[in-house]
This record gives sequence, C-alpha cells and structure tokens, in this order.
Amino acid sequence: MRCPSCKSSKNKVIDSRLTESGEAVRRRRVCLDCGRRFTTKERIEDELRLSVVKTDGTRVPYQRDKVLHGAERACYKLDVSDTQLQELADRVEEELLRNHDREVTSEQIGLYVGQQLRRLNQVAYVRFMSVYRKYNNVEEFVEEIRDVKELVAQEIPSQQSLFES
Ligand SMILES: [Zn+2]
Repeated sequence: MRCPSCKSSKNKVIDSRLTESGEAVRRRRVCLDCGRRFTTKERIEDELRLSVVKTDGTRVPYQRDKVLHGAERACYKLDVSDTQLQELADRVEEELLRNHDREVTSEQIGLYVGQQLRRLNQVAYVRFMSVYRKYNNVEEFVEEIRDVKELVAQEIPSQQSLFES
C-alpha cells in the first residue's frame, strides 16, 4: 500500500467499506508523509492477513478455522447447520475488515463471534460468552445472563433447564 505521490508506505486508514458484492473492501487512506489521500481496493482473501493479538501479548496470524471451531463448539448439539456456521464466519470477517486494518485482539474477535451467535442461537451465545468473554465485573455478567435467560425462556422453552441450577 504505497502512496501514489511520494511512494511512502506509511499511511493511515480513514474509512473502510465493503463493495456491494461483499468480496472486496475499499479503503480511504491518507499518506503520513505527504498528506495525499488515496483509495485502495483489496480483495477479502488478501486482506485477512490480520495479526491476532492474544491476551498474553503474542501475535498469531488470523485463522478462519478458529472462528468456526469456537462457534461450532458453542453450537454443539444445537440446531445449527454448517452453512449457518460458515455464514457466521463470513459476517465476523466483514466486521474485521470494516474495523481493523493490521491487527485485532483475540478478545475483540470473541465479541464479534458472540454478537453473531446471539442472532443465531441464544443458548450458543450464552455458552460462548461464558467461556470467552472477559467480564469487567460480576454484575455485568449476571445482567447478560438474565437478559438471555428471559429471551431463551420465551423463544426456546425446551432449553430453559440449561440455566437452572
Ligand atoms: Zn505520500
């Protein structure tokens, strides 16, 4: 990603949006050396060379399989198809493209996965969040569970027992 004017590789993303087909992302960038603004269009498969910053500070390359695996485990024995899991991973990757340029924390990826699971299946969402999310305080955790418990009681009566202990 070099500046068309001065060829500097130092630039900052000021806006990102997906193309209509959803297969590429268009980024507005500003050169940090000469101030020129330019647009780049990047294909998604090229673009997901993101580094994931783990909680211990180490960095690993982003892997779609990890997102799929985490979601799959949360959906164990629930009525969620492979196609739905793939679509979930697609939407997580769209969020990554939209909001992150070079790196992203593993915690943030977990939150994106959680958001998508919440839309897909409430039980999977609670399972996932109870494992992955780092809560700031216990109240927040309890609130989250209470919210979902009510939703689950309304929508999936047979799953109610999961939360009673
Ligand atoms: Zn420049």
